[in-house]
Amino acid sequence: MFKVDAVEGDVDRFVMARRLLGRNLYRAACYLTDGLLIDTGIPLLCGKIEKALSGKPLSAIVNTHAHEDHMGANAVLQKGRRVPIFAHEKALPVLSDPGKLSLLPYQKLFFGEPAPSTGKPIGASIRTERHTFKVIRTPGHSSDHVALFEESRGWLFSGDAFIGGNDRVFREGYDILEMTKTLRKLSSLGAGVMFTGMGNVVRNPARQIDRKVSYFEETSHRIGKLHREGMAPPEIARRLFPGDFTVRLVTLGDFTAVKLVQSFLRASGEL
Ligand SMILES: [Zn+2]
Repeated sequence: MFKVDAVEGDVDRFVMARRLLGRNLYRAACYLTDGLLIDTGIPLLCGKIEKALSGKPLSAIVNTHAHEDHMGANAVLQKGRRVPIFAHEKALPVLSDPGKLSLLPYQKLFFGEPAPSTGKPIGASIRTERHTFKVIRTPGHSSDHVALFEESRGWLFSGDAFIGGNDRVFREGYDILEMTKTLRKLSSLGAGVMFTGMGNVVRNPARQIDRKVSYFEETSHRIGKLHREGMAPPEIARRLFPGDFTVRLVTLGDFTAVKLVQSFLRASGEL
C-alpha cells in the first residue's frame, strides 16, 4: 500500500505499508511541507517514495529517529536530490551504518534494510521558506527521537513518540519513564494537529495524548500491585496481557508483554 494525500495546509502525507496475506502491516508515513521531508519511509518502498517526490521541491530531510521504517529512502534521495539530512546526534552513526540496527528477520521481511546515508546534527530549529520548526527532544520510543513543532500553525510532527492504542507489548529499548515524560511534554505544547509516524492526523491531540498517559499510569499501578503481591513478570504478563503469542512469534520475541511489564517495574524501581 502506498498513498499520497494533502492533509493540512501545505502538508502532504505519504503513507505506506507492506502487504502480507492481503493485510496492510506496519504502516509508516512521511510528510512533505514546504520542501522539508520529515522521515523517509520503508526501505523496500524507497523507489516509490523517490518517484512520488519527483517534481516536488525538496530542500532538506529530517529523520525523527533512526528506526528502519523512518529512514528508508534517505540514501536514494540524498544521492538523487543532493539534500542535507538532519537528525539527533545519536541517530547519525546508525544512518551511516544501518547494520547497527541489527535487524531481525521480521524487520528485514516487512521493511528491508536501509542503505547508508550521511546525516548532520539537528539544531534547535529547522527553517524552510514559510515555516519554522522547533526541534523537540522526545526520548522514550528510542533515545535518538526528535519531534518538530511549527508553533505558528500548531503543527506537531511526532514521529513514533506517540503511537495510538493501548500498548500490550513492548520491544527492547522502550523506556516507559522517558515515554511518559515525552508525552506530557507533547501534550503541553497545545498543538492543533499532530501528524504521527504511522500516518494518523490527529486534531487537538492533547486529549488523546493525555489518555495515553493515564493508560500508562493505570498499567503501572496494576503491574506494581501484582508484583508486590509476589508475582514474577512472566506471570503478571500472562494475567494482564494474555494473547501476545502471535506478535511474539512473528517478531521472534522482539515484542513481548513481559518486556512491557519489566519496563514498568524498572521505571518504578521495583526491578
Ligand atoms: Zn520507531
